[in-house]
Amino acid sequence: MTYLRTLIWFAVAAVAMLGAVWLAERPGNVTVEWRGWRLDTSFGVLLLGLALLILLGVALWLLYRWIIGAPGALLEGWGDSRRRRGYRELTQGLAAVAAGDGGEAQRHARKAEQLLAEPPLTLLLSAQAAQLNGDREGANRAYRAMLEDEQTAFLGLRGLIAQSLREGNQRQALDYAERAFQLRPQTPWVVHSLFDMQAQLHAWKAAQHTLETGLRNKVVGADRGRTLRALLLVERSRTAEHDGQDNEALALAREAFGLAPERIAVSSRLAELQIKTGDGKRAMKTLERGWSLAPHPDLATLYLKAAGENDPLKRVGVMRRLVAQKPDDAESHLALAQATLDAGLWGEARRHLEAAGGSTPTVRVCRLMAEVEERAQSDQAKVTEWLARAAQAPADKAWRCQACGAHHESWRSVCESCGAFGTLHWRAPGTYGQVLPPGETNRPALGMATMNTMSGG
Ligand SMILES: [Zn+2]
Repeated sequence: MTYLRTLIWFAVAAVAMLGAVWLAERPGNVTVEWRGWRLDTSFGVLLLGLALLILLGVALWLLYRWIIGAPGALLEGWGDSRRRRGYRELTQGLAAVAAGDGGEAQRHARKAEQLLAEPPLTLLLSAQAAQLNGDREGANRAYRAMLEDEQTAFLGLRGLIAQSLREGNQRQALDYAERAFQLRPQTPWVVHSLFDMQAQLHAWKAAQHTLETGLRNKVVGADRGRTLRALLLVERSRTAEHDGQDNEALALAREAFGLAPERIAVSSRLAELQIKTGDGKRAMKTLERGWSLAPHPDLATLYLKAAGENDPLKRVGVMRRLVAQKPDDAESHLALAQATLDAGLWGEARRHLEAAGGSTPTVRVCRLMAEVEERAQSDQAKVTEWLARAAQAPADKAWRCQACGAHHESWRSVCESCGAFGTLHWRAPGTYGQVLPPGETNRPALGMATMNTMSGG
């Protein structure tokens, strides 16, 4: 390029030189007369003068361009550096948030706000800085301002949901979660938190709608969705029964049982209603199926009720029919031990308790053993010994929350401790992670307290 330019310049200079020589060899005079002025010169000098005038004109024009263009260019440069400084403040502010330094973050946020004048960028930083400093009102203000911009609305809602939950205002958190759900129904945390909130507020139908959207968008797994739907139906069945709509309650319970017969709450719900409508035979069938999948003392109690048998010896026979579904399970031995104990069959009761307890009998086994020895009027020392063992024995299975480990006296759909839905299972303590059925894993901890129902077991 430079080579070519040099060559062109060289050519131009050569042409000019040749022209000058040509003109010098052919002298001629030019005379200009204008309003009393007279100019006598050679043609060469006139040509040179003209060339100089053209050059001067070009120079003046360039100067003019520079003068009118300069202020804009200057301002542009100034704005650029302002934006750059703004971004630097923003970056430093975000770093301060990440480091947990609220004061520093707020300083940078304020500067970035002044420099950038772009609320979508600076509001999130301002909100987080305020939150770090414990300035709730400031954080809420910033999050609410984010709702006005389409691009930041979703982020703002997330902040507001967390703030409302922190303040214990569940209704408001639900409002915000519903708005977030409308904006992005395919975002997992939105679906999970909305579902949990609706369940906590006993809005079962709304929760079911959320769950179905989650299933459609593949945010909730099919298997998990099936169980959750069954448990929601159990709750809806309870509500219907409470409202005096027994037929509706029964239909809902039947639907739930079709989905998840392995959940104790589901099989016992259907059996309860079948007994209530006088259909003891069907109730027994339901309970037998339920026992074969997940035995539980409540199912044994309901089975005896469904059979309507009052003679203790005959009740043993009834119980044998139920436990035949899963004869080797500890719950089966315990159920038979209780029935034989009530019928005064001490030897059999002892045998079943030994089978249920194995090498490390639980508290319940030890207590029942003590009761057998007491009622069989055998050695008092044996009674004392079993009671002493009960004090040291490992805990029995109980309703424990899979998410937080909290213990509950009876089953409920929403954990009283952590608010998760459908996480209560009939398990021994400390068995999570070892005796989990396939596909169930301990969920990882999530940011918000109530966002964990649908992701795990
Ligand atoms: Zn819990």
